[in-house]
Amino acid sequence: MTSHLRTLPLSLPPVHGETIGSYLNRLADANHLAIGHLSFLIGPNRRHRRDDNRVGYWTPAALPRLAILTGRSIPALLHAMPALAAVREPGQRRPPLAVEELAEPRRRPACRLCMAHRGIHGLVVRSTDPHEGVCHRHRIWLLGGDQHDLSALPEITSADRRHRRLVRRRKDPFITVDYLHARKITAQWFREADPSPLHQRWNRRLGTLPEDPYGDPHRPDEDRIELATYPETTTLTSLFASPHWRGHHGLRAEAAQRLAIAVQDLPPGLTAGWRHPQADRA
Ligand SMILES: [Zn+2]
Repeated sequence: MTSHLRTLPLSLPPVHGETIGSYLNRLADANHLAIGHLSFLIGPNRRHRRDDNRVGYWTPAALPRLAILTGRSIPALLHAMPALAAVREPGQRRPPLAVEELAEPRRRPACRLCMAHRGIHGLVVRSTDPHEGVCHRHRIWLLGGDQHDLSALPEITSADRRHRRLVRRRKDPFITVDYLHARKITAQWFREADPSPLHQRWNRRLGTLPEDPYGDPHRPDEDRIELATYPETTTLTSLFASPHWRGHHGLRAEAAQRLAIAVQDLPPGLTAGWRHPQADRA
């Protein structure tokens, strides 16, 4: 039954890639409704966190109700929030594949400058894949908790461009799993390997970031390590995504060459990683 529903007085558009929880909370805030009440109008009465992006408990009736409340078409809502496509009748739900669970996008605040430019001042959380780590308009890092200015780190923005091109050529979600594997290796090198030319690069990048008021300057947190090692992580991602180099005896030499270091300076522990058989169809 949707006959008694009316469009909300302030029916904000969703931001592309916004989490469902973020959008519902912004709608509720703008219209001075409790999130539980807005949720009840859609169907399941539930408090949504802003980083919530699951619809496992929604029935298909929720989509037309959300469309009426927001004054937007169902295709427009699905385009902005692809997670809504998972709405199914209870019997049709399938469990996620292991690779989908591994590659689940992170939820991070949208670029604060882009949002301000659009006149949005509340918190907008987006579902962000690793190749969407940079706002290229504002040169801002988006993968971590803090949105760092990348003006002094052009290699990070270039790495993100390479990463985006790679994702366009290869199939998700496998490329995300390659990225996560590469990130694990570079983080291990950062923490455990003997000092190498790579550490000089990473420490120089970390030195451009503002001091972390809550952190130990000698032990940067995971978010900062991910930023500092991002160009090298992207280089390894591209290597792991290549069927030619998977299991190849020359993998270490190729990695060293792509990282522009001598092979004896490459820390140990490089493996081609886990691949799903379907990945080779990409
Ligand atoms: Zn921006």
